Amino acid sequence: MSYDTVVVGAGILGCALAHRLAATGRRVALLDRGMVGSGCSARAGAIASPLVRDDRLRAMSARSRQWYAEYRLRRPGAPLRSLPALFLCAADRQDALRERCAEPLCPAPDTALPEWVNRTGATVLLGGPRALHGQVADLCRALIAEPAVDVYECTPVDRWSGGNGGFVVELADGRGLDVPELVLAKGAWLESEDLPPGWEPPRTKKIVSYVLALPASPADPLVHLADHEAFLLPRPERGEWWLSITSPDWGILPQDGPAAGPGDLRIARAVLERYAPHALSALRGSSVHCDSYSPGGGPEVVAAPGRPLVVHGGSGSGFRYAPAAAEAALDALGAFAVRPAGTGRTT
Ligand SMILES: Cc1cc2nc3c(=O)[nH]c(=O)nc-3n(C[C@H](O)[C@H](O)[C@H](O)COP(=O)(O)OP(=O)(O)OC[C@H]3O[C@@H](n4cnc5c(N)ncnc54)[C@H](O)[C@@H]3O)c2cc1C
Repeated sequence: MSYDTVVVGAGILGCALAHRLAATGRRVALLDRGMVGSGCSARAGAIASPLVRDDRLRAMSARSRQWYAEYRLRRPGAPLRSLPALFLCAADRQDALRERCAEPLCPAPDTALPEWVNRTGATVLLGGPRALHGQVADLCRALIAEPAVDVYECTPVDRWSGGNGGFVVELADGRGLDVPELVLAKGAWLESEDLPPGWEPPRTKKIVSYVLALPASPADPLVHLADHEAFLLPRPERGEWWLSITSPDWGILPQDGPAAGPGDLRIARAVLERYAPHALSALRGSSVHCDSYSPGGGPEVVAAPGRPLVVHGGSGSGFRYAPAAAEAALDALGAFAVRPAGTGRTT
């Protein structure tokens, strides 16, 4: 079989890119050491939040939201839904929150909150643009259901070699793929040697969401707890809520078997004690993985002549920025690839 491009890693970044590569007329092999969407993407209770921290991410966020909106129109059954978003924050921090929000925020009535969430003392409640929730593992599969994409699951890539004339990708079962374009979208599995010389090794961090056994309906809002970088997400499709917290644990790798630790539980309990004490008894298990984090705080495309293109740095927001990251990767492939179309082959 001949391919124009091999993409290693079928998480949301690899799948979004494979989808776009197929639309350019390329024949794509998408390889994953596990199943499609089985890495960090499998564990995400992911939202595309309207909060951004700088102009680059603001532009990536806006582009991605637009792309997802268009995709939903093309594929009405896509595992994406929009939901109302509310923001709780301390009164003296609301100006900073408004600045971080991509669209204007305005006061919201307390009745908009689920009855088990409190607006405590000095906290203001704001409403704003709707948020987008994606069932990321399902979205990965939907994106790559393209005739031009061949998927190889449970196919670890042991190593790659090559450069300006093309690449050889060695699979664990001894096969080799000879291909003009190679993209590495390995998430937290990315290694230093995948990056061009001189690049900092990728940093990784744990991401944790706790499950709350509370009934959720499609009309329930997402509640951002902005002072804690946390949010409450209704998951009506699972009949529960998720409390997403910011875990402080850096340096966690997939092979460590990431799990919520006592520090994560302390944070989750403190957030609930403040905003939803009645939900403490509904605290159940968690959904945890680690992600690769870029210095800039969002997906990063690393392109250098004679090297595989690297797309990484979901930075806890890989779903949110995946369409914009895929576009940046396509641009970079245009700039760097040696692409005599269709000469890649399997040996
Ligand atoms: C609990 C939780 C909540 C989250 N909430 C949000 C949110 O609200 N919004 C948001 O945008 N994001 C959120 N995220 C983060 C988001 O899920 C990640 O940023 C995103 O999934 C990263 O995608 P990825 O494709 O880079 O990595 P992954 O999904 O990890 O994919 C990488 C893939 O590469 C494969 N791979 C690695 N090495 C090899 C190899 N040698 N050979 C073959 N295959 C290989 C792996 O098997 C894996 O499938 C959350 C994550 C978690 C865990």
